[in-house]
Amino acid sequence: MDTIERIKALSDAFGPSGFEDDVAALVRSELEEYETSIDHMTNVRCEKEPGSEKPRVMLDAHMDEVGVIVQAIKPNGTLRFLPLGGWSAVSFPSSSFQIRTRNGNTVPGVVAIKPPHFMKKDERNKPSDVSDMVIDIGVTSREEAEALGIGIGSPGVPDITCRYDEERGLFYGKAFDDRIGVACAIDTLKRLKNEDLPCNVQGSFSVQEEVGERGVRCNAEALKPDVMICFEGCPADDTFSEDYMIQAALGKGPMLRHMDVSMITNWRFQKLALDTAREKGIPVQESVRSGGGTNGAMVNQTYGVPAIVIGVPVRYIHSSNCFCRLDDYENAVKLAVELCKLLDNQTVSKL
Ligand SMILES: [Zn+2]
Repeated sequence: MDTIERIKALSDAFGPSGFEDDVAALVRSELEEYETSIDHMTNVRCEKEPGSEKPRVMLDAHMDEVGVIVQAIKPNGTLRFLPLGGWSAVSFPSSSFQIRTRNGNTVPGVVAIKPPHFMKKDERNKPSDVSDMVIDIGVTSREEAEALGIGIGSPGVPDITCRYDEERGLFYGKAFDDRIGVACAIDTLKRLKNEDLPCNVQGSFSVQEEVGERGVRCNAEALKPDVMICFEGCPADDTFSEDYMIQAALGKGPMLRHMDVSMITNWRFQKLALDTAREKGIPVQESVRSGGGTNGAMVNQTYGVPAIVIGVPVRYIHSSNCFCRLDDYENAVKLAVELCKLLDNQTVSKL
């Protein structure tokens, strides 16, 4: 696939936390030039030079997306559900979902919202709890839902098909957190495949990040990286922050995060990335975040590995409908490629 087709396919792929099989299959087919492996958690990994003595640079992106899971079916056939990953309850009502059936099909559903005609005065502006919400799949009884193959544990994701506007270089779709990062990691590995590098690059496509960075531990345990570059789809803030506080705008380049609540980035590695971007004329944005968390933090904390996060800004992350831009993606890949050319033994030992 070409870059645009690959990003669209990754965005469309069904893969809430714990159900990443389709994404893993896509990653493996797109990385045919590498020998990839998959574990029982569905983590995918690969390595450019297995057994080499060069420093190991792990390029990680998580394959899962935020979704939902059916908790119970009500007698009228509507579905009680729990969020998979960090949703804000206010973004659910009226959102469309596709729910996967037992036999692998999907059925469309919508988070039911009572028509205003039936709402009492105090209901109209009151936010509701997820526990009060249901997904309606258009059936009239529990039996009908079950006959479709829906049951306890059926997973779901937003029902959106990715669109690309060539003129504006803009993607609209779901799951750019972190499929745009997955696309970055695939592309970086492809561009480096035939380069003579001072380091051994490794691909880490991990599962279950959105529920607590679970999969990346297995990948790090297996790959034993010396350095990590974590690709993320990161929350864009340019439509609701004051100008001076905007740190992740669309079209201004990937975001390099100095800090979030999970990690204070190794400043030496961060400086190397910022200096490299400046030297190569790659636009980047810098941020200090009061929220957030990444796989970088998990590997940094567990194995003491210096990690940076290269984030492609995504508007309206952790909801159904998102935007991101091709130029930000391109610049993220360019920066990672340049960094991998620099990460020799001496440089890595000084991080
Ligand atoms: Zn993410």
